[in-house]
Amino acid sequence: MNRYDPSLLFSRAHSAQRSVLSVYLNVDQSQPGFLHRGFESEIKKMAAGVRRGLSDAADRQRFSIAMHRIQDFIAAYKPAGRATVLFYDTIDKFFWQQELGFPVTNQIRWDHELFIQPLAAAMDQLESYGVALLDRSKLRFLVVSLGETEEIARQDRSGKRLRHIKTSGFDNPGSSSHIQRKADNQIRSNLRRWIKEVDELAKARGVHRLILAGTPEITREFRTLLPLRLASSVIGEVDLSMSATAKQVVTAANAITEKYESEMELEKVNKIITSAAKKGKVVIGLGRTLKAINSDRVWELIYSVGFLSPGYECPKCSALFSTRATRCPYCGSRIVAVKDVVERAVGHALRKKAKIEVVTADASAALKSAGSIGAFLKTRTGTMAT
Ligand SMILES: [Zn+2]
Repeated sequence: MNRYDPSLLFSRAHSAQRSVLSVYLNVDQSQPGFLHRGFESEIKKMAAGVRRGLSDAADRQRFSIAMHRIQDFIAAYKPAGRATVLFYDTIDKFFWQQELGFPVTNQIRWDHELFIQPLAAAMDQLESYGVALLDRSKLRFLVVSLGETEEIARQDRSGKRLRHIKTSGFDNPGSSSHIQRKADNQIRSNLRRWIKEVDELAKARGVHRLILAGTPEITREFRTLLPLRLASSVIGEVDLSMSATAKQVVTAANAITEKYESEMELEKVNKIITSAAKKGKVVIGLGRTLKAINSDRVWELIYSVGFLSPGYECPKCSALFSTRATRCPYCGSRIVAVKDVVERAVGHALRKKAKIEVVTADASAALKSAGSIGAFLKTRTGTMAT
């Protein structure tokens, strides 16, 4: 599958029996605890802990099959990132692995469904973005995805005419301005070409956030030439040298994305609280949010980072509840307690193609006063509208 498109993960169903192994593992070789492939013993230790809790023989056997598959992979694995996430489903032998550029909490889960909440939260916080670093004749395009940086293009169009401008003397103003005009045209033609390149690269990688880098003059000119669709995805500009290292690019770009993310979070929290007060198309609080998820009405789920709450789940139709009821109101099955219903809610929302927004800092504090969780609802269309 395309590693840049995890939507396949979100479309996977909840299975009737436990069949899915999810593993989050730090593998950073620069950390003392993980030298000499310490992650291999870490995973064995975690697996033993899970195995001890399995009483059913068939369940234990399925778990062993899944562990074998994961350990086979790990044995041959050469870590490239700081952490890795792996999923394996014994039902259809589905396997998925991704390097992560940020540390995780080491954990393994043996469950009915993929444990995707940590990955989804990271994907929201670390939404991929592209950096177009350019000057008059060169373009570099870098994509930062889940904390990992990759330079995917480097183009050079330095032509003769551009070199001319450096050697043109001041003694002949007429000829100089002619050369200048030709050079300006050449630069503009290069910039137009970069726009086409950036557009294609961003599309290919599903990048919806762009940062322009280079001298202020060149990024300003580039920005004015952008078509509206691309211009609206630009979240900032940084003054950077064409020879900047990938690390320098990311450091400069991160300052912009963090500011952008925190402003957007605060804006969303204010919007949901105001809208709830006006009885708009939103819900706030755990109980109401779960109800909206159960009836597939969530367009975007929003919650405070670190928020978790015990709750209940229907093992048959997977409906979620914040308070205990004897029977599931949807299918009549007996409901069971779950340790963290928020994590379940995120998984369900993703499977129903809702968006996820994990809010931090000030936005998180503001949302806490409204129950730490809420959702923007889908707009009903046609005759359903009331
Ligand atoms: Zn049910």
